[in-house]
Amino acid sequence: MANAPRSLQAFYGGTFDPIHYGHLKPVEALAQVVGLSQVTILPNNVPPHRPQPQASSEQRKTMVELAIAGNPLFRIDCRELERQTPSWTVDTFEALRREAGPQQPLAFIIGLDSLLSLPTWQRYTRLIELCHLLVSRRPGYPVTMREAQHQTWLEAHLTTDVAALRQLPAGKIFLADTPQYDISATDIRERLAQHQPCDDLLPGPVLQYILSQKLYR
Ligand code: ATP
Repeated sequence: MANAPRSLQAFYGGTFDPIHYGHLKPVEALAQVVGLSQVTILPNNVPPHRPQPQASSEQRKTMVELAIAGNPLFRIDCRELERQTPSWTVDTFEALRREAGPQQPLAFIIGLDSLLSLPTWQRYTRLIELCHLLVSRRPGYPVTMREAQHQTWLEAHLTTDVAALRQLPAGKIFLADTPQYDISATDIRERLAQHQPCDDLLPGPVLQYILSQKLYR
Protein backbone atom coordinates (compact mmCIF):
# COMPACT_ATOMS: atom_id res chain seq x y z
CA MET A 1 0.00 0.00 0.00
CA ALA A 2 2.01 2.93 -1.28
CA ASN A 3 -0.24 5.58 0.32
CA ALA A 4 -0.74 4.02 3.74
CA PRO A 5 -0.22 6.65 6.44
CA ARG A 6 3.13 6.32 8.14
CA SER A 7 3.51 5.94 11.87
CA LEU A 8 4.96 8.88 13.75
CA GLN A 9 7.92 8.02 15.96
CA ALA A 10 8.02 10.35 18.96
CA PHE A 11 10.86 11.02 21.42
CA TYR A 12 10.84 12.92 24.69
CA GLY A 13 14.11 14.28 26.06
CA GLY A 14 14.87 15.69 29.48
CA THR A 15 16.98 15.54 32.58
CA PHE A 16 14.24 13.81 34.58
CA ASP A 17 15.83 14.74 37.92
CA PRO A 18 13.29 13.40 38.88
CA ILE A 19 10.62 12.42 36.32
CA HIS A 20 7.20 13.73 37.45
CA TYR A 21 3.53 14.04 36.42
CA GLY A 22 4.29 17.33 34.62
CA HIS A 23 6.34 15.18 32.22
CA LEU A 24 4.01 12.21 31.97
CA LYS A 25 0.45 13.58 31.95
CA PRO A 26 0.79 16.20 29.17
CA VAL A 27 2.54 13.63 26.98
CA GLU A 28 -0.21 11.09 27.57
CA ALA A 29 -2.75 13.75 26.52
CA LEU A 30 -0.58 14.72 23.54
CA ALA A 31 -0.41 11.07 22.47
CA GLN A 32 -4.22 10.99 22.37
CA VAL A 33 -4.45 14.19 20.33
CA VAL A 34 -1.78 13.21 17.82
CA GLY A 35 -2.45 9.47 17.85
CA LEU A 36 0.90 8.23 19.14
CA SER A 37 1.11 4.57 20.10
CA GLN A 38 4.62 4.87 21.54
CA VAL A 39 6.78 7.60 23.05
CA THR A 40 10.47 6.97 23.63
CA ILE A 41 11.94 8.76 26.65
CA LEU A 42 15.53 9.92 26.14
CA PRO A 43 17.14 10.94 29.46
CA ASN A 44 20.05 13.27 28.71
CA ASN A 45 23.55 13.88 29.90
CA VAL A 46 24.06 17.42 31.12
CA PRO A 47 26.96 19.43 29.66
CA PRO A 48 29.69 20.10 32.24
CA HIS A 49 29.20 23.88 32.16
CA ARG A 50 25.58 23.52 33.30
CA PRO A 51 24.38 22.67 36.83
CA GLN A 52 24.63 18.90 37.17
CA PRO A 53 21.64 16.72 38.08
CA GLN A 54 21.54 15.75 41.74
CA ALA A 55 20.66 12.14 40.91
CA SER A 56 23.20 9.98 39.08
CA SER A 57 22.54 8.79 35.52
CA GLU A 58 21.73 5.35 36.90
CA GLN A 59 19.26 6.80 39.42
CA ARG A 60 17.56 8.97 36.76
CA LYS A 61 17.27 5.92 34.51
CA THR A 62 15.79 3.84 37.33
CA MET A 63 13.26 6.57 38.15
CA VAL A 64 12.11 6.71 34.52
CA GLU A 65 11.81 2.91 34.45
CA LEU A 66 9.72 2.95 37.65
CA ALA A 67 7.52 5.75 36.31
CA ILE A 68 6.67 3.97 33.05
CA ALA A 69 6.45 0.37 34.33
CA GLY A 70 3.20 -1.16 33.07
CA ASN A 71 2.44 1.79 30.76
CA PRO A 72 2.81 0.56 27.17
CA LEU A 73 2.81 4.11 25.78
CA PHE A 74 6.35 4.69 27.02
CA ARG A 75 9.72 3.09 26.48
CA ILE A 76 13.18 4.35 27.44
CA ASP A 77 16.25 4.79 25.23
CA CYS A 78 19.45 5.36 27.18
CA ARG A 79 21.73 6.24 24.24
CA GLU A 80 22.44 9.76 25.54
CA LEU A 81 23.04 8.59 29.11
CA GLU A 82 25.40 5.83 27.99
CA ARG A 83 27.57 8.19 25.99
CA GLN A 84 30.39 9.52 28.13
CA THR A 85 30.11 12.99 26.65
CA PRO A 86 27.00 15.18 26.71
CA SER A 87 25.21 15.06 23.39
CA TRP A 88 23.22 17.76 21.66
CA THR A 89 19.64 16.91 20.75
CA VAL A 90 20.42 17.69 17.13
CA ASP A 91 23.19 15.05 17.09
CA THR A 92 20.86 12.46 18.58
CA PHE A 93 18.32 13.24 15.85
CA GLU A 94 20.99 13.00 13.15
CA ALA A 95 21.52 9.43 14.39
CA LEU A 96 17.79 8.70 14.73
CA ARG A 97 17.22 10.00 11.19
CA ARG A 98 20.01 7.77 9.82
CA GLU A 99 18.43 4.78 11.56
CA ALA A 100 14.86 5.57 10.47
CA GLY A 101 15.58 6.62 6.86
CA PRO A 102 14.65 9.86 5.09
CA GLN A 103 10.88 9.32 4.83
CA GLN A 104 9.98 8.20 8.35
CA PRO A 105 8.13 10.92 10.29
CA LEU A 106 10.01 11.67 13.53
CA ALA A 107 8.96 13.99 16.34
CA PHE A 108 10.56 15.51 19.40
CA ILE A 109 8.23 16.37 22.28
CA ILE A 110 9.07 19.46 24.34
CA GLY A 111 7.35 21.71 26.85
CA LEU A 112 6.57 25.32 26.01
CA ASP A 113 9.52 26.57 28.08
CA SER A 114 11.84 24.51 25.88
CA LEU A 115 10.26 25.91 22.71
CA LEU A 116 10.89 29.45 23.97
CA SER A 117 14.56 28.67 24.65
CA LEU A 118 15.00 26.70 21.42
CA PRO A 119 16.91 29.52 19.64
CA THR A 120 19.71 29.00 22.19
CA TRP A 121 19.99 25.30 21.31
CA GLN A 122 22.82 23.98 19.18
CA ARG A 123 21.84 24.06 15.45
CA TYR A 124 18.14 24.40 16.20
CA THR A 125 17.30 25.22 12.58
CA ARG A 126 18.86 21.88 11.61
CA LEU A 127 16.83 20.11 14.29
CA ILE A 128 13.55 21.09 12.60
CA GLU A 129 14.86 19.60 9.34
CA LEU A 130 15.29 16.29 11.15
CA CYS A 131 12.02 16.07 13.10
CA HIS A 132 8.74 17.72 13.94
CA LEU A 133 8.33 19.41 17.31
CA LEU A 134 5.28 18.54 19.40
CA VAL A 135 4.89 21.15 22.12
CA SER A 136 2.91 20.74 25.33
CA ARG A 137 1.75 23.79 27.22
CA ARG A 138 3.23 24.71 30.55
CA PRO A 139 1.75 27.16 33.06
CA GLY A 140 3.33 30.60 33.10
CA TYR A 141 4.87 30.49 29.62
CA PRO A 142 3.55 32.64 26.76
CA VAL A 143 2.98 31.17 23.31
CA THR A 144 5.10 33.79 21.59
CA MET A 145 8.87 33.86 21.13
CA ARG A 146 10.79 36.69 22.78
CA GLU A 147 12.34 38.00 19.57
CA ALA A 148 10.42 38.91 16.43
CA GLN A 149 12.80 36.97 14.15
CA HIS A 150 12.24 33.81 16.20
CA GLN A 151 8.47 34.36 16.14
CA THR A 152 8.67 34.58 12.34
CA TRP A 153 10.66 31.34 12.31
CA LEU A 154 8.09 29.67 14.59
CA GLU A 155 5.12 30.80 12.48
CA ALA A 156 6.79 29.49 9.33
CA HIS A 157 6.77 26.00 10.87
CA LEU A 158 3.52 25.99 12.88
CA THR A 159 0.75 23.61 11.89
CA THR A 160 -2.63 22.77 13.40
CA ASP A 161 -3.00 19.83 11.01
CA VAL A 162 -2.26 16.54 12.76
CA ALA A 163 -2.22 14.71 9.40
CA ALA A 164 0.74 16.83 8.25
CA LEU A 165 2.83 15.22 11.00
CA ARG A 166 2.57 11.89 9.17
CA GLN A 167 2.63 13.18 5.62
CA LEU A 168 6.01 14.86 6.09
CA PRO A 169 9.09 13.38 7.75
CA ALA A 170 9.99 16.61 9.62
CA GLY A 171 9.65 20.38 9.65
CA LYS A 172 6.40 21.13 11.48
CA ILE A 173 5.73 22.53 14.95
CA PHE A 174 2.46 21.46 16.58
CA LEU A 175 1.28 23.32 19.68
CA ALA A 176 -0.97 20.93 21.56
CA ASP A 177 -3.69 22.21 23.83
CA THR A 178 -2.79 19.74 26.58
CA PRO A 179 -3.80 20.06 30.25
CA GLN A 180 -1.33 22.16 32.20
CA TYR A 181 0.48 20.94 35.30
CA ASP A 182 2.31 23.43 37.45
CA ILE A 183 5.02 20.92 38.41
CA SER A 184 8.79 21.15 37.97
CA ALA A 185 11.64 18.92 39.06
CA THR A 186 13.23 21.97 40.72
CA ASP A 187 10.14 22.46 42.89
CA ILE A 188 10.05 18.74 43.77
CA ARG A 189 13.72 18.77 44.80
CA GLU A 190 13.13 21.83 46.98
CA ARG A 191 10.03 20.33 48.56
CA LEU A 192 11.84 17.07 49.34
CA ALA A 193 14.76 18.99 50.88
CA GLN A 194 12.20 20.68 53.16
CA HIS A 195 10.42 17.37 53.92
CA GLN A 196 7.21 18.61 52.29
CA PRO A 197 4.78 16.11 50.73
CA CYS A 198 5.10 15.39 47.01
CA ASP A 199 2.60 12.55 46.64
CA ASP A 200 0.51 14.35 44.00
CA LEU A 201 3.49 15.41 41.94
CA LEU A 202 5.11 12.16 40.82
CA PRO A 203 4.34 8.41 40.67
CA GLY A 204 4.42 6.58 44.01
CA PRO A 205 7.18 4.11 43.05
CA VAL A 206 9.44 7.02 42.01
CA LEU A 207 8.84 8.78 45.33
CA GLN A 208 9.54 5.57 47.28
CA TYR A 209 12.80 5.12 45.35
CA ILE A 210 13.83 8.73 46.06
CA LEU A 211 13.21 8.21 49.77
CA SER A 212 15.03 4.85 49.83
CA GLN A 213 18.05 6.37 48.05
CA LYS A 214 17.97 9.45 50.30
CA LEU A 215 17.95 11.65 47.20
CA TYR A 216 17.36 15.41 47.16
CA ARG A 217 17.92 15.94 50.89
P1 ATP B 1 14.03 21.33 36.16
O1 ATP B 1 13.02 21.95 37.08
O2 ATP B 1 15.11 20.55 36.87
O3 ATP B 1 14.57 22.30 35.14
P2 ATP B 1 11.90 20.15 34.56
O4 ATP B 1 10.83 19.79 35.51
O5 ATP B 1 11.70 21.39 33.74
O6 ATP B 1 13.29 20.19 35.33
P3 ATP B 1 13.20 18.63 32.45
O7 ATP B 1 13.68 17.25 32.63
O8 ATP B 1 14.22 19.71 32.39
O9 ATP B 1 12.11 18.91 33.62
O10 ATP B 1 12.23 18.76 31.20
C1 ATP B 1 12.12 17.83 30.18
C2 ATP B 1 11.04 18.28 29.24
O11 ATP B 1 9.79 18.25 29.95
C3 ATP B 1 11.18 19.71 28.72
O12 ATP B 1 10.83 19.74 27.35
C4 ATP B 1 10.20 20.50 29.54
O13 ATP B 1 9.70 21.60 28.81
C5 ATP B 1 9.10 19.47 29.79
N1 ATP B 1 8.35 19.72 31.01
C6 ATP B 1 8.81 19.64 32.27
N2 ATP B 1 7.84 19.92 33.16
C7 ATP B 1 6.73 20.19 32.44
C8 ATP B 1 5.38 20.57 32.79
N3 ATP B 1 5.00 20.76 34.05
N4 ATP B 1 4.50 20.75 31.77
C9 ATP B 1 4.87 20.58 30.46
N5 ATP B 1 6.14 20.24 30.08
C10 ATP B 1 7.05 20.05 31.05
